[in-house]
Amino acid sequence: MNTSYLPETINLHFLSACEMGCTHCFAPFVDCGKLSLSDLKALILKLAQAPRTLGMPKARRLNFVGGEPTLHPHFLELVQYAHKCGLSTSIVTNGYSLIRNGIPKELKVLELVGVSIDSLDHARNRKIGRVVRQNTISENQWYLFFGELSQMGVSLKINTTITQHNVNEDFTDFIRKTNPSRWKVFQAMVVRGQNCKGAEHWKVSRKEYDSFIERHLNVGSALCAEPEELMRGSYAMISPDGRFFDSAEGYQRYSDSILEVGIEQAWNQVQCDADLFLERTRNY
Ligand code: SF4
Repeated sequence: MNTSYLPETINLHFLSACEMGCTHCFAPFVDCGKLSLSDLKALILKLAQAPRTLGMPKARRLNFVGGEPTLHPHFLELVQYAHKCGLSTSIVTNGYSLIRNGIPKELKVLELVGVSIDSLDHARNRKIGRVVRQNTISENQWYLFFGELSQMGVSLKINTTITQHNVNEDFTDFIRKTNPSRWKVFQAMVVRGQNCKGAEHWKVSRKEYDSFIERHLNVGSALCAEPEELMRGSYAMISPDGRFFDSAEGYQRYSDSILEVGIEQAWNQVQCDADLFLERTRNY
């Protein structure tokens, strides 16, 4: 049974496809189908109409995540639709297609773009799997991209997942120069049935993760540390086939279909710890 109300930010993993192949990726959704465009819109409308917690000043935020959101054939249409429904919108992207093809003007409606950057080193990114046909994104390309986002008035968040490959990398200069609203640093999480094969080659201990965080405390208040135990069971997440899921027990546990049983019943079938959620979001 759930211990909390539906949080203000919902992560909609609306597709599993991605042009990259990070070894630690916990979102290949090997056990999921997908929703049609009309079902996705029906789901978004339901989320927009769901009751909100008293005292929450901002609109509920729908965070489009994947896989890689920009690869969905109706990505722009869905972002615009969510915005029209009154939701605040954001995405988490690997940046590849937005840098290669430019940022569509339709994305001006976004409140926030989160970019996943695990390394600034070409060879290291290749080891991580953060690569598309041998191409990685250079530091310079990130600076140009962030400049465009800033001109559009969209806030920037950087996500970095710590594995054996990057645990000794120093991001201090990069974070100071780019000055994101938040820099979320995750301890790579092993999820049974999704990314556990070969995990011994990339997972880091809590001690190794903490040493990375300690080395970066001087970047300032943008740094948000998320060790594994803080992440598990503290996010509201929806799978590509329209079910809430959690990873509190180390594997992805799914609710019934939200469109079939409704938000309240489906939400009560997964675990989200209100205290962990508040601790995780206290800097937002
Ligand atoms: S870029 Fe993100 S979605 Fe794509 S493989 Fe890497 S972690 Fe997974």
